[in-house]
Amino acid sequence: MQRLVGDRGVTLRPHAKTHKSIAVGRMQLAAGAVGLTVGTVGEAEVFARAGVEDLFLAYPVWASDEKSVRLRDVAARARLRIGVDSVIGARRLASELGPVEVVIEVDSGEHRTGAHARDVLEIASAATDAGLQVVGVFTHGGHSYDAPDLVAAAADDEVSHLAAAFDVLREGGFDPSIASAGSTPTAILSARSPVTEERPGTYVFGDRQQAALGGIRAEDVALFVAATVVGNGEGRLVLDCGAKTMSKDRMPWIEGFGALPAYPGLAIAGLYDYHAVVPVPPGTDAPAIGEVVAVIPNHACPVVNLADRITVVLDGRVVDEWTVDARGRNA
Ligand code: PLP
Repeated sequence: MQRLVGDRGVTLRPHAKTHKSIAVGRMQLAAGAVGLTVGTVGEAEVFARAGVEDLFLAYPVWASDEKSVRLRDVAARARLRIGVDSVIGARRLASELGPVEVVIEVDSGEHRTGAHARDVLEIASAATDAGLQVVGVFTHGGHSYDAPDLVAAAADDEVSHLAAAFDVLREGGFDPSIASAGSTPTAILSARSPVTEERPGTYVFGDRQQAALGGIRAEDVALFVAATVVGNGEGRLVLDCGAKTMSKDRMPWIEGFGALPAYPGLAIAGLYDYHAVVPVPPGTDAPAIGEVVAVIPNHACPVVNLADRITVVLDGRVVDEWTVDARGRNA
């Protein structure tokens, strides 16, 4: 990802929500990332305390009294940029934190957070009047996840909405330097002018969903749940990786909750807290009770957030272990 984005003259600021791990974040920085993106104050604290010097909290955080104390501590340790998408949010940030750098979020079609491009000037002016420093605009083309054939259009939306917001700011007398786009499916497709920065996160491990969307090859998916077969018979297997391991993330365009790559055709159809049920059609090769199988999750991010450690395997041997340092730091 670093090479693909870098070759297009765009910087990479990976979203650390996927790995939540200081070890993996350091590898991304060593490979050339300009800094890390985080989604919560808790993630920002973990990476700032680990010495990561450049963080973007890409979230329109509401600066409550408690969060403001924590954000001030992060800002004292690292260069911190924060997302804003409203006048009131910007004023609150300014009154609690003083002159921090902010990036205005633009809604490019996901319809989650983010302002309309035409409202960006009002937010930027209010932020500046309140004492904040407006450095640019960002968006998350999360509608790229709606269906595999919508990815390219979502990338175009990211570029066109950031371009419109850039124009609005420039015409209003601002000189923005950051146009930050980012989702794994769109990261390479939207790495073009005026985009200056990409923030994919899930690419770092990949998952079933990314393979289905075409953002990553199925053989490049690197994150698996190691599950033990605890039951078999009557046309089904039971694995010990329930919803508390796999999460219940499911997309309408993917069958089931996870696949067993060593056993083509087998996928988790039912999830209970501690049980995963895998239907086994007659004549299909299936693992024996007691066997440990690799399961590819639909979505890597919530799975990592449910685990304390990631075991690193190379050529069938355990070579390392990474702590999920920001596990559970979801606020
Ligand atoms: N930026 C923001 C604001 C996000 O919400 C996300 C993901 O949710 C990302 C970047 C990274 O996107 P992806 O998970 O597709 O890699």
